[in-house]
Amino acid sequence: MTEPKNRRGLLIILSSPSGAGKSTLARRLRDWDPNLCFSVSATTREPRPGEVDGEHYRFITESEFKGLVTEGEMLEHAHVFGNFYGSPKGPVEEAINRGCDVLFDIDWQGAQQITNSVLGQHTLSIFILPPSIAELRRRLETRAQDDADTIARRMQKSWDEISHWGGYDYVLVNDDLDETEEQLKTILTATRLRRLQQPQLTDHVRALQTEFEELP
Ligand code: ADP
Ligand code: 5GP
Repeated sequence: MTEPKNRRGLLIILSSPSGAGKSTLARRLRDWDPNLCFSVSATTREPRPGEVDGEHYRFITESEFKGLVTEGEMLEHAHVFGNFYGSPKGPVEEAINRGCDVLFDIDWQGAQQITNSVLGQHTLSIFILPPSIAELRRRLETRAQDDADTIARRMQKSWDEISHWGGYDYVLVNDDLDETEEQLKTILTATRLRRLQQPQLTDHVRALQTEFEELP
């Protein structure tokens, strides 16, 4: 990997039970910072109405998916709701080396794999909780993307996802959307200032030292 010229890109992971609001929040973050890249996952599930291949997901077959895993092309992968999902490695490495932050909408299994990988030190993980289970169901129903069976399956799985909240750097309760968006921006702004994300500081401090030593 080559070093980025300036700030080093972050891997920002958003996880939540389905329906808690992570896609909505991710879209708002990108409206706020258009330089933010989305990691486009590959999946074996069928596209939903309105979903565009290459934009929302790369929709691929199970054998294509397994091939990518075997070739080591996936940063992480998991089996969720009966389908395979994974984050292709190439675009992520390319983006963070350019100093761009990459946003992942992935489940706890993927979050754990990335956090424990060599890229773990450049990762910011955030878990989004719903204000209540009743509200989670209401959001899944009003999103109107899934049939009743799928919603029931997502509700059943939600506790499994929530039970992993303790493994994340930050945990937000997404009650008021505007407030959660502000909290996310605050976290991201602060994390971008971590020493590790600013390799260019070494040169700056060196310049300060030179100037200091030349003081009359
Ligand atoms: P996820 O990506 O976590 O599955 P979505 O972002 O698709 O969830 O959100 C599910 C539904 O809930 C969407 O219709 C979205 O507009 C709505 N929603 C998200 N956050 C809030 C919030 N804080 N208050 C009310 N509705 C919300
Ligand atoms: P959906 O089918 O609703 O788009 O996504 C279902 C679940 O899969 C969500 O919890 C989502 O975060 C997760 N998911 C989507 N893409 C990936 C991925 O690339 N890796 C992992 N581990 N989970 C993913």
